Parts: sequence; C-alpha cells; structure tokens
Amino acid sequence: MPPRNNGVKQLHRLHLQLKEVQDQLDRGPRQLKARQQIAIQKQETLEAAKQANKAAKMAVDQKNLQLKSCETKLSDHKGKLNSASSNREYDALRKEIDADTMAMSVLEDEIIAALEKVDVSQIAIKKVEAELTAAQAEEAKFTANVAAAEAPLRAKMAELEIAVAAAETCLPAEAANYYQRLVQKYGAEALAQVDGNICSACYVALPPQLLVQLNGGQITFCKTCGRLVYPAADE
Ligand SMILES: [Zn+2]
Repeated sequence: MPPRNNGVKQLHRLHLQLKEVQDQLDRGPRQLKARQQIAIQKQETLEAAKQANKAAKMAVDQKNLQLKSCETKLSDHKGKLNSASSNREYDALRKEIDADTMAMSVLEDEIIAALEKVDVSQIAIKKVEAELTAAQAEEAKFTANVAAAEAPLRAKMAELEIAVAAAETCLPAEAANYYQRLVQKYGAEALAQVDGNICSACYVALPPQLLVQLNGGQITFCKTCGRLVYPAADE
C-alpha cells in the first residue's frame, strides 16, 4: 500500500498546471486591452494633428485677408498721391505708403511661416495615420489570436479540473473541508513541499513529530502556515 500522501505531490502539480492555464486565460484579455489602449491613443493623437492642421490653414487664410486689405489700402494711397493738393499731404501719403509696404512685407513673411506649419502638420497627420493603421491591425490580429487560444485553454482547464478532483480522493474525508478552504484562499499555493524539514511556503522547520507523520505517508498540514505539505523526494 503506497503512502497516502503520495498523491499530494501529484495534486500540487495539477494545481500548478491549472493555475498556469488560468493565468494564460487572464493574460490574453489584459494584453489585448493594452493594445486597444495604444490604438485609442493614436486616434487621439491623430485628432490633435488634424486640429493643428485646421488651425494652421485658418491662420494662412486670415493672413491672406489682411494682406488683401493692406494691398487695397496701398493702391488707394498710391492713387491719391497724384492728386495731392499740398506737399504736406503728399508727404503724409508717402508715409502711409511706406507703412503699407512694410506691413505687407511682414504679412508675407508670416504667411510663409504659416504655410510651413500647414506642411508640417500634414506630414504629422500622414505619420500618425500610418501608426494608427498599424496599431489597429495589431489589435485585430491579437484579438483573433486570443479568441483562437481560448477554446483549447478552456478545454485544458476542464480536463485539469477533473484530474484535480480525481487526485483529491487521496485526502481523507476529515481533511477535505479544510483543504477546500485552503485552495479557495491560496489557489495552487495551498500546497507546499517540505525540503528536508523546511516547509517551502513559510520556511519554518516542521516539528520532529510532524516530520515523522509526514515521512510516514500521513496527510500533514504545516503547523506554521497551515499548507497541505508533502515530502520533496518521495518518488
Ligand atoms: Zn509552512
């Protein structure tokens, strides 16, 4: 008759496998969310770039209007120059014309700068559009991968749950309830091996009496941390 706690090591191995499958199931949606977040950020960056482009274009239009009004003023002042009735009036008009010319030159420089801003923002839009497309493609690919992985993982989990239930039959009825509470609380960490005389969950030595019980094949719980323990080398 093999020792009763022979099955505990196997039970722990199954719990660990179950945890790994559960972790994989949890990881997929989490990683997917991160990719969705990237796509959302790119979308926001694109909106901002479009706004900047719109503002730059409006600035160009405004400056062009100002330039037009300056041109009108200039030709108006030039037209009046020939009919000036006095030197004083003539000089005043010449000053206006100089001021108009200066204002137009400043506006022309500003228009060039504003047009450069339009170009830069258009390049930014193209770049972010490409990044958004790539992020959306990555998201779609990842969504498909997660969906494809889910069914096999769920099947594996169901399989392992059955194996765990079968392995649990090594536990005597009086220990079963306590064990179930342990599993609810700690999951796979509800079980721990004992290396030499040290519990690998709490790193405290088992009292000699408990060690004798453990090595004699009895179902044993660590006195310090309460874990279901089993000898490290029992095969
Ligand atoms: Zn312990």
